[in-house]
Amino acid sequence: MTERSIFTRILDGDIPGEILAETDRLFALRDIAPQAPVHLLVIPKTSEFRDVTELAAGDPALLSELIAFATRLAQEHTDDGDFRLVFNTGANAGQTVFHVHAHVLAGGLNEKSVGA
Ligand code: AMP
Repeated sequence: MTERSIFTRILDGDIPGEILAETDRLFALRDIAPQAPVHLLVIPKTSEFRDVTELAAGDPALLSELIAFATRLAQEHTDDGDFRLVFNTGANAGQTVFHVHAHVLAGGLNEKSVGA
C-alpha cells in the first residue's frame, strides 16, 4: 500500500489544514507557506495523478474542472479576479508533493517571475 499524500491526509481530517472550498472532485487549501498575498492550492480529491501531465492525459475533464474552480476561487479572493496558475512538475522544477495540485497566486504579482 502506498503512503497517503499530505493533501489526502488533510482531506481525511487526519492532519490540520485550512480547506476553503470543495466540489465533488476537488478541494482548495490555503498554502501553509504563502508566496503571494493570495496563495491557494487546488487539488483533485483523487491522488492517482502525480502531476499535471498525468492529469491531462488521464482525466482532461478533471483538469478543466480544476481550472474553472481556480477561476472561481480567484474571483472570490481578489478584487480583480486576476491570478497566476502554477503547476510545478517534477522535483527539479520544485515539486515536493506528488499528488497533482495547482498553485493559485494573486496580489502584487506585477513582475514577470513565474516561480511559485
Ligand atoms: P509543490 O512544491 O509544488 O509540490 O507544492 C507543495 C505546496 O504544498 C507548497 O507550496 C507547500 O507550502 C504546501 N504545503 C505543504 N504542506 C502543507 C500543509 N500542511 N498545508 C498547506 N499547504 C502545505
